[in-house]
Amino acid sequence: MNEFVISSGHAKVVRGASGYLDEVNEARNVVSKVAEYLKEQNCKVHTFNDDTSKTQRDNINTIVKYHNSKSRDLDVSVHFNAGTTESGGTEVLYYGDGNKALAAKVSKAISEALGIKDRGAKKRTDLGFLKGTAKPAILIEVCFVDTKTNADAYKKNFDDCCKAIAEKLSGKKLKEQAKPVEKKSVLHKVQVGAFSDEKNATKLAAELKKKGYSVSVVNG
Ligand SMILES: [Zn+2]
Repeated sequence: MNEFVISSGHAKVVRGASGYLDEVNEARNVVSKVAEYLKEQNCKVHTFNDDTSKTQRDNINTIVKYHNSKSRDLDVSVHFNAGTTESGGTEVLYYGDGNKALAAKVSKAISEALGIKDRGAKKRTDLGFLKGTAKPAILIEVCFVDTKTNADAYKKNFDDCCKAIAEKLSGKKLKEQAKPVEKKSVLHKVQVGAFSDEKNATKLAAELKKKGYSVSVVNG
């Protein structure tokens, strides 16, 4: 797949879940980072965050309308789950059976990147986003905002999580970032004398040491 519409769940005013993480804020962060990685892979990406809707119905309609107005191969919605559980985990929701395999792949990749439980692909026929968007669609529940181990894992592995999502959506591996070249430190040495008699050399060295210089006598 090469062209995507990715939106964050809920809206600026109609907030989502919150706990150790705030769903709306983090969904927006994931959307923009995943888009960045997809663009790195030469994919075309349209992103959307709903800043205007005042009601939930408005919100779903606004998001669906944006998705359906763009050309794309896949619609993606980013959410975070809530309802404190012991281990939490990642799950990816789908509606059409044709999207089950992709949902499972994305869920597994996120769970591995975060090191949390893979709750897998889940069929949902009741969600406005999945029903309303005309193209194949998945709804990602990255992790639980109110399960502390999930929130910690997400904060620590945010980048890897977004990379994993981008790679599964595009089906392409991201290039490894080139490691920065290590700077070698260069020592600049100052020579103050050269003596054929070693005694003279050690004498000068002793005088310089007394004055507080760091001195070494080198033969050669
Ligand atoms: Zn949500």
